[in-house]
Amino acid sequence: MSEPVAAAGYDLILKGGRVLDERNGINTVLDVAIRGGAIAATGENLSGQAAEIVDVGGAIVAPGLIDIHTHVYHKATSLSVDPGFIARRSATTTLVDAGSAGAGNYDGLRDYVIAHSPYRIFAFLNISFAGIFGFDKGLGVGEATLREMLPVERCVAKIEANRERIVGVKARIGGGETGKLGLGALELALEAAEQAGLPLMAHIGYAPPTYAEVVSMLRPGDILTHCYRPEPNSALGSDGKVFAAVRQARERGVLFDVAHGMGAFGYASAEGALGDGFPPDLISSDAHVVAVEGPGYDLLHTMSKLLNCGLALPDVIGMVTSRPALAIRRPELGHLGVGAPADITVLRQVDSDYVFKDVVGEARSAATLLQPVAVYLGGKAMEVARRPFEESYLLGAGRTVHAHGCGGDR
Ligand SMILES: [Zn+2]
Repeated sequence: MSEPVAAAGYDLILKGGRVLDERNGINTVLDVAIRGGAIAATGENLSGQAAEIVDVGGAIVAPGLIDIHTHVYHKATSLSVDPGFIARRSATTTLVDAGSAGAGNYDGLRDYVIAHSPYRIFAFLNISFAGIFGFDKGLGVGEATLREMLPVERCVAKIEANRERIVGVKARIGGGETGKLGLGALELALEAAEQAGLPLMAHIGYAPPTYAEVVSMLRPGDILTHCYRPEPNSALGSDGKVFAAVRQARERGVLFDVAHGMGAFGYASAEGALGDGFPPDLISSDAHVVAVEGPGYDLLHTMSKLLNCGLALPDVIGMVTSRPALAIRRPELGHLGVGAPADITVLRQVDSDYVFKDVVGEARSAATLLQPVAVYLGGKAMEVARRPFEESYLLGAGRTVHAHGCGGDR
């Protein structure tokens, strides 16, 4: 006989996974129960009725992954990609667009992309009125070279009208991005962020200005993105140690984000910084039209890369869940506490003989790769896509999909 689900029943129980929830200090095998799109309980051997019970033994159960640096103003800006494509492929529930749009075209991102996506999408608003407008394969025109293109009052006004989705200001700082305006662009972006009371995400490119000059101006809660960019203009001095200005910025509360992208992850920089006791605060993909073709690919691939650099799995998960949620001031996300939205990513760690490349072609072998198993967004099961660039390198039981199968990744 079947009984109706009692009031105390659950919609779903994920049973027996290793739960990694940094915010709530959980790193152990537990069950997670969902009801009404929210986390209803976590505990050992949860009993009670459930409409569905899924055995996730041997898998990792994490809060829904948050990619804090993406470009998803799809089809309206040349650098952006389809948010669904990268979310499905990297088992992500929340995407943050990092300045694809400025005050002049943010409404399109809101009305044509965010409003139509099932995923949670937030945005850093570019201080440049036009956003990132001149970026594509073989094309790179800076959007922040002219003071007239960076109207602080227009940026602040657009934020005031859209605080439910805009979580900060973005500025791309570097020789090509800011030209002769240099640190003047950063000053204007900081002024906008200060007036709006939100964090600034600052990209670091080639000098001038230097890495040290840029981080020295950032405030507590601001984010330096592309923190492990290769030389020239990395975080490391000629002695191979992290610059004092970079350490001082961290002590002040500035956050350091990986944002792999097409040009911003060098093993020399990453290993040098890690060896000097300077792990990142945040891991992100900088997924854009070039980066998704490798060697960065997406968030999950970048996480695997950092894991194989020696970061501990609970830290890697924290850097894409709890920490980015707090960085964008959305504390309801990025954890599995009772009452939180049931955004859950289920992963497995698979032995691998993959060879990673950084953006300058340096190679490292990968002992393990994180692979998506399932994603729940507000309690709803979401599609998970194949990862054709990793499939043929999974060893043993992990090799469950044919390496040369067709399609399925878009
Ligand atoms: Zn970017």
